[in-house]
Amino acid sequence: MRNFSNEYSSLALNTATLGHNIDGFGAGWSPEKIIDACSEKGFGAITFWRREIGNKAFDIGNRVRDAGLEVCGLCRTPFLIGPMAPKPHSVMMDDLYSSIDMAAELGASCLTSVVGGVIENSHSIKESLMRVAEITAEIAPYANKAGVKFALEPLNPVFGGNRSCLVTVRDAIDICEMVGDPNVAVAIDVYHVWWDLTLPEQLIRLGGERIAGFHLCDWLADTNDFLLDRGMMGEGVADIKSIRQAVEDSGYNGFCEVEIFSKNNWWNHDPDKLLDTIVERFRSVC
Ligand code: ZN
Repeated sequence: MRNFSNEYSSLALNTATLGHNIDGFGAGWSPEKIIDACSEKGFGAITFWRREIGNKAFDIGNRVRDAGLEVCGLCRTPFLIGPMAPKPHSVMMDDLYSSIDMAAELGASCLTSVVGGVIENSHSIKESLMRVAEITAEIAPYANKAGVKFALEPLNPVFGGNRSCLVTVRDAIDICEMVGDPNVAVAIDVYHVWWDLTLPEQLIRLGGERIAGFHLCDWLADTNDFLLDRGMMGEGVADIKSIRQAVEDSGYNGFCEVEIFSKNNWWNHDPDKLLDTIVERFRSVC
């Protein structure tokens, strides 16, 4: 397993950690300011959210690379199905294609997809996952041509109803195999997989080539908001080192991206000090 105590250029920042992806939160740092701060503090890459990019994808991507960093991802596709997906379907598809275009323009290595909850009135995770597989198969060639990995992110089962009927790494691999395009991959997030004792064997089945991202945070024992009360690495109950071990045993040696949604705590910290805390925790507890 890699040792990050001194050499930590595999550390990446997901900008959601600074709170910018939700109205009324975050310190209002521009992408340019985030890039400069990450470069100064020794991060190796940044994942942005679409709302921060606007029509500046090309310029922001170049600015990241000029600063010696990479764009390791873009968040995210629209919800593909379920109660929170854009309606009608054609509107969702247009937005899906736009998200791929933006990731390509930005030079992001992957586009994360949170697939959406169980299809309304279907009462069927199975049917919903089949529909996700169909939509993924439909757009996979377009993403492939654009040079953007399509990263299915299974979410914690607490989000199964509304945000993601895809709740296990097992089901994400099944969809990859149904689609059969090597460009369709899986993002592994500590918040979503920390409880799953089958993770090591599933990750071996997946293989490092099909891991399109590894996301860090922690699960708080007494979380008060499943969506917006994530913990900093080391303050919760997840066995982060063992999870990273399993991810790396599968062959993954890419970026480790810190993604902390924390409305009442970390988003209220000074971003500069927050980034220092992230570096310290990454080197010591991850
Ligand atoms: Zn994530």
